[in-house]
Amino acid sequence: MESEKIVQGTIFNIQRFSIHDGPGIRTLVFMKGCPLRCRWCSNPEGLSSGISVLSNTRICISCGFCSRSCQYDAIYIQPDGRYQIDRDKCRNCFNCARVCPSNSKSISGEVKTAAEIVAMVEKDNLFYKHSGGGITIGGGEMLAQPEFSFEILRQCREKGLSTAIETSGYGSLAWLLKIAEQCETVHFDIKAIDSQLHKKLTGKDNDLILKNIKALSKHLNKKKDFRPELIIRLPFINGYNTQPEAVSGIVDFIKTQIEYYTLVEVLPFHNFGEKKYEEMGLTYEFMDYPNSTARDLEEPVRILSEAGLRLKVPKW
Ligand code: SF4
Ligand code: SF4
Repeated sequence: MESEKIVQGTIFNIQRFSIHDGPGIRTLVFMKGCPLRCRWCSNPEGLSSGISVLSNTRICISCGFCSRSCQYDAIYIQPDGRYQIDRDKCRNCFNCARVCPSNSKSISGEVKTAAEIVAMVEKDNLFYKHSGGGITIGGGEMLAQPEFSFEILRQCREKGLSTAIETSGYGSLAWLLKIAEQCETVHFDIKAIDSQLHKKLTGKDNDLILKNIKALSKHLNKKKDFRPELIIRLPFINGYNTQPEAVSGIVDFIKTQIEYYTLVEVLPFHNFGEKKYEEMGLTYEFMDYPNSTARDLEEPVRILSEAGLRLKVPKW
C-alpha cells in the first residue's frame, strides 16, 4: 500500500471552543506567516513565518535564570526588577524560554504535521456533532502555507468534520480554489477597494486580492453540486475605511464583480492584540485606539443595508 505523504507546517496557536469563526463550536488553527501588514492586526505573532520568543514581563518573578542562560547578553533588568529581552541582540535561540519557570519567556510557533493537527482537532468531535462545528484555519494567512492548509482540510473532510478557512486572499489563486473545494465555509476579507487606501492600511495593494475573490466567486458560481458558503468579511477601522466613499466602493464591487456570495459580515475593530505586541517587543499603533461602537458603524451599516446586501452585523 502506498504510504501517505507527510505534510508539515508551522502554527502559532490552536484555540478550542470558538463560536465566532464559522458554524457551531469550532477549533481554530492559526498558521504562521502573512504577506500583509494590516496596521490593526490582532495576531502579530502570526506575521513572521518563523518561530520566535515572547516576553511577558508581567509574570516575571525576577529569578534571573533567563539572563544566565542567554549567550548573547540579550536580557536586561528593567527598573521594576523584571527581565526583558533586547530584541536587537536576541538571536532566537530559545534558551531563556526553556529555563523560565514562570512562562514569562515563551516560544511562539511550532512545527506540526497535518495528521497531528487533525488528531488534536478531532478531540472535540462530540461538540462538533452537537453544534454543527468543526475546524477553521486562519492565521497569519493560511495561503502562506497552502499545501499544509489543504492537507489538514482534506483529512478533516475525510473524517466528516465541518471545514472552514479565513483568508485575506493574498496568495496563489490555484491554491485558493483547491483549498476552497475542501471547505464548507470560506471567510474572505475585503479591507478596501481603493488600491492606494489598501496599501496604506495593509502595506500591499489589492490587485491580487480583488482578482482572487472575483475568480473564486465565479468558480463557485459554476458549481452545480456542492459549493462552500462564501462569506465576505469587512473589517471596519473607524476613520480608516469607514468613510461613505470607501463603503460605497465595497458595495459597487460586490454588486458588479462578485457572482456568488452568501453573506457580507461586518467586523468591528477590537484592540485585542495590545498585550501580544508588548510581548514581542513591537509598538502597536492602535494601542489606545477605541474599539468600534454601534454608533461608529451606523453609517457603514446603513450604506450596506440600503444596497440590499445579505448582511450580518455585530450584536452589541
Ligand atoms: S531567545 Fe534571545 S533572549 Fe532568549 S536566550 Fe536566546 S538569544 Fe537570549
Ligand atoms: S527566567 Fe523567567 S521568571 Fe526568571 S527572571 Fe527570567 S523571565 Fe523572569
